[in-house]
Amino acid sequence: MKMTILVFGSSNFLGKLPDQIRDETTFNLEVITDFRQAVSQIQIASPDVIIVQASLKGSLELCGWLKEQIQLSCIHCILVEDRLQQLANKSQQGWEWEFEMTATALHQGADAYIWQLPAATDDIFTDISPTHSLILGQLTVGLRKAQKYRDLMEKNDILSAIALADSLTDWNNRRALEWDLPRQITKARNQNIPLSLIILDVDYFKRVNDQHGHLVGDRLLQLLCMRLRHNLRSQDTPFRYGGEEFVVVLAHTTGEEALKVGDRLNRLVSEQPFSINSKLILNVTISLGVACLEANDDEAGMSLLHRADQCLLAAKAGGRNQVLGWNQLSQLSSLEAVS
Ligand code: GH3
Ligand code: MG
Ligand code: MG
Repeated sequence: MKMTILVFGSSNFLGKLPDQIRDETTFNLEVITDFRQAVSQIQIASPDVIIVQASLKGSLELCGWLKEQIQLSCIHCILVEDRLQQLANKSQQGWEWEFEMTATALHQGADAYIWQLPAATDDIFTDISPTHSLILGQLTVGLRKAQKYRDLMEKNDILSAIALADSLTDWNNRRALEWDLPRQITKARNQNIPLSLIILDVDYFKRVNDQHGHLVGDRLLQLLCMRLRHNLRSQDTPFRYGGEEFVVVLAHTTGEEALKVGDRLNRLVSEQPFSINSKLILNVTISLGVACLEANDDEAGMSLLHRADQCLLAAKAGGRNQVLGWNQLSQLSSLEAVS
């Protein structure tokens, strides 16, 4: 993947930079001269290295702004000193002054501070100008930093995926549910859209283990999860809640619609047996509890989960292989209270 360099500087400044940065096979090069435009470009697609022309209006602000953006700390910011006054001072003042200038630039947010020597001085000693060789050196540092950051992010993604996935079924695990449900609740409330949740549990699963062994039980859970996942909609997020119990969070879904989804999942399991291997085919059923987010539910989703769980328990008590929603359960309870 190509690295991106953003030059915050004039075309004249760009012309004085080493030719290597214009190598299109290695770098994407962007050139911007306006502070606001640079900020918005960095926010849209952050570059790996920024080379800043010190004499350009907004240069130090850009370095300072960048330093404050914690999520952009991997960008290597090279400040190139081309202010005439500073260059004149440099030739008159001693080392101490130069060190002080460098320290100030680094404090202001630059990761490197390079003097752009006047052309005559710059190419006096060698074929390659000292300024160019320092800029290229700092470019290497920036690219090394960017590569390390990318590797770290890649590892981070893998670790997050492992931490949030259930190894048997490949569904999201309970930790993922605890992380995701509050966010889905907040989103549903902010956008004023419905959110529902299904808890489902395999009926008499213990018998499968007892009769055929745990490995067959494991395989059954895998096949069940595969079948259910293939039949979920894009807005439905499945989680393994624990053991043979699963949760599906249904975004953009009313309680009534969630009942229909529950019915569909129920039939999907009961109407077609599971082929464990060439010799063993098992018929299983599931029971499901459905609840819809209400105004007084807590932000973590505990009360929502609790209502769905109560429906699941009632579906089990009512004979299993069925779906029960919170409204139906409330109606049943009030009928029982009357009789
Ligand atoms: P019910 O209809 O009331 O849900 O009955 P059940 O037998 O399904 O429920 P019970 O809670 O009595 O048993 C669940 C069993 O699921 C017990 C447990 O050993 C088994 N189990 C939980 N996780 C796994 C797993 O990852 N693999 C296998 N093979 N079995 C599991
Ligand atoms: Mg069960
Ligand atoms: Mg269970």
